Amino acid sequence: MGANVRQDAINSIANAKHQLNRVDFKKTHVKDLFGINVFNEEIQRQRLPKPVFKALQKTIKQGAPLDPSHADAVASAMKDWALEKGATHYTHLFQPMTGITAEKHDSFLSPDGVGGAIAEFSGRELIKGEPDASSFPSGGLRATFEARGYTAWDPTSPAYVMENPNGSTLVIPTAFLSWTGEALDKKTPLLRSMEALSAQAMRILKLFGNKDAVKVFTTVGAEQEYFLIDKAFYYLRPDLITTGRTLFGAMPPKGQELEDQYFGAIPERVLACMADAELELFKFGVPVKTRHNEVAPSQYEIAPLFELSNLAVDHQNLIMEVLRKTADKYGLVCLLHEKPFAGINGSGKHNNWSMATDVGENLLNPGDDPHENAQFLVFCTAVIRAVNKYAEILRLSIASAHNDHRLGANEAPPAIISIFLGDQLQDIFEQIEKGGAKSSKQGGQFITGVSVLPPLPKEAGDRNRTSPFAFTGNKFEFRAVGSSANISGANTVLNTIVAESMDVMATKLEADIKAGKSLTAAIQELLPPIVKESKRVLFNGNGYAEEWHSEAAKRGLPNHKNTVDVLPVITRKDTLELFAKYKVYSEKELQSRFNILAEAYVKTLNIEANTAIMIAKGQILPAALRYQKEVADSVSSARAAGVANPPGVDTLGTVVTGIGELTKGLAALEKASGHHGDGDPYNHAKHMREHVFPALNTLRIAADKLEAVVADDLWPLPTYREMLFIK
Ligand code: ADP
Ligand code: MG
Repeated sequence: MGANVRQDAINSIANAKHQLNRVDFKKTHVKDLFGINVFNEEIQRQRLPKPVFKALQKTIKQGAPLDPSHADAVASAMKDWALEKGATHYTHLFQPMTGITAEKHDSFLSPDGVGGAIAEFSGRELIKGEPDASSFPSGGLRATFEARGYTAWDPTSPAYVMENPNGSTLVIPTAFLSWTGEALDKKTPLLRSMEALSAQAMRILKLFGNKDAVKVFTTVGAEQEYFLIDKAFYYLRPDLITTGRTLFGAMPPKGQELEDQYFGAIPERVLACMADAELELFKFGVPVKTRHNEVAPSQYEIAPLFELSNLAVDHQNLIMEVLRKTADKYGLVCLLHEKPFAGINGSGKHNNWSMATDVGENLLNPGDDPHENAQFLVFCTAVIRAVNKYAEILRLSIASAHNDHRLGANEAPPAIISIFLGDQLQDIFEQIEKGGAKSSKQGGQFITGVSVLPPLPKEAGDRNRTSPFAFTGNKFEFRAVGSSANISGANTVLNTIVAESMDVMATKLEADIKAGKSLTAAIQELLPPIVKESKRVLFNGNGYAEEWHSEAAKRGLPNHKNTVDVLPVITRKDTLELFAKYKVYSEKELQSRFNILAEAYVKTLNIEANTAIMIAKGQILPAALRYQKEVADSVSSARAAGVANPPGVDTLGTVVTGIGELTKGLAALEKASGHHGDGDPYNHAKHMREHVFPALNTLRIAADKLEAVVADDLWPLPTYREMLFIK
């Protein structure tokens, strides 16, 4: 029975004719497609009255508030452009706390009062929307009777047209707030954190005599890892459909041990899908740059060029959406879960992060002369200090039930946050810490490493894939972010903690300079104690190694192994004060996030438990019982035929034991997941982690053992070997 559905799936895959050549790049040139669906600067220039265009650009590039009186002109130009592109509707796109994007479409059409209709879109409609928000998680920020939140246009992320088979939609990126002004989304805190960082970074730039920059932005380029498997298998895996990951599945005979997948030739159908997805992304102005096979079988990566954080986050969400949609066209399913398959690599999102001025100077780029180097060292030290001081908040920013399966699982960065600097930069910081004179490699006197610095490495240098936070030449790469996550959370935290560091450092520098010290002298006094207090977070070695865990413990580095463990950090006093000080999250907002994250954890595990029970009872147990009968029948008929010790007896014993373990595991999971919370989401989450999580694992072990004994033609679920290797 089981084999029939699996065999049918394999046959359908073997015989499927996919339309692979959907795009002809000889006719359609990529460069002509880039951004064609975006209401971008060029379109704005063509279509907006000059003063409006100028004002809007000033808002986009320097964050100046936009005069509401310009909104009507922008709305009208946007509408005309969108209608020409075939749009029938517009939507305010927002990022509620579910982590995915949300949209509600409104038609442009309004009755004209004399029997006809006109297409309308006012400045008011552009600026503000009122979705019925009562069903989005608010963690207690909103009672349902005051459910209406509002969406507010974010002019710094350009609107675009999303093409659909029957009519397109004008999509307007927005922030999502409650009527009382609390952020109900992920964009608002990100924008606030960018403001905070800019203000503090500008103070430091001023001390260095910078007269060109008026604003500092953070830049982000996030590399997305994902799996593609055939849809025919996916439909036969209720666990993948419902939870995003396989709750069962024995190890295949071959996994990733041959290391023959990483950077290997991309299968043709996958390549066609990637190219198609990239084309769609180009139209949205997403600067997709690289694609390759990843380490695990059927795992891939897509990476864009970096952009300003806010835009990069919106584009990152689009990348996930377009990957999912496009995979479907090619009979594939895109799995964005952090750990769809146990025992092989999971997926992450390397969040490359830096700071740049509005005139394009990368502040984490080592310079060519001592002045530039000193500036680089100040900014770099600010990051190191922040990561050390706020490692727990950083850990928190990447916590989810999904990512728990990945972090620390020996193939992903450990849950311990540390920084990889590379040998050369590490050496420089060690010298800075020592403070006093030291002879440089050139043989002369070397004063604190600031006034006379050796040229710093420009190349990314050696790579350390085991570090959760690595300096890679001119940016930091935060590698612990999960593949399905909205990256705004991690970036909001990064921006805020670095802003705090820069604030403290700028305050000291400003005071010293006011007291008559030179900038160089002030820096030489500032850096050594900071490096001293922060250096425990620096680690160039192998983050996967067992020794690192004990070494990190000795250094006193926090090691929050899972989401439940780290959640209380959100509402700790120092966290509340930090985010309140920089106006990124109010206390109320953080309290709500605590509740939302705890509830999300409970729900995720609850859904996994229900799905596992359903599969174990409805598919695995029946298959095992059938097989037990088959073997028992074979044994008794062999005995009847006079065979004294039929060889099937051992197998029968194994099956009987296996079924016993499975039913025991089932009963234990049912008992554990039957617990109802007492209304306290955190206690409930704790219960899920302590009881449901291990029960899920025990049940899985029993089921996977059965997979290895039950006859293949009876096994109902596509196996790892099939899902990962039949393409
Ligand atoms: P790799 O990590 O494969 O060597 P790169 O170093 O070129 O590749 O870049 C990896 C990612 O880092 C890309 O998404 C890239 O856009 C991004 N990146 C490069 N420079 C910056 C920067 N200054 N700020 C943020 N992201 C950056
Ligand atoms: Mg990389």
